[in-house]
Amino acid sequence: MPRKYGKAARKCERCGDHSAMIRRYGLNLCRQCFREIAPKIGFKKYN
Ligand SMILES: [Zn+2]
Repeated sequence: MPRKYGKAARKCERCGDHSAMIRRYGLNLCRQCFREIAPKIGFKKYN
């Protein structure tokens, strides 16, 4: 399933639609999703 990035790159790639985006570390995730996956991918918890 190809990712369509570009103009719509601001959407969370996990849940698809959020506003508080985290674009650090090369991720395109909202804050909530980042907090959920961060421990799984090796990052510290966002809080
Ligand atoms: Zn999300």
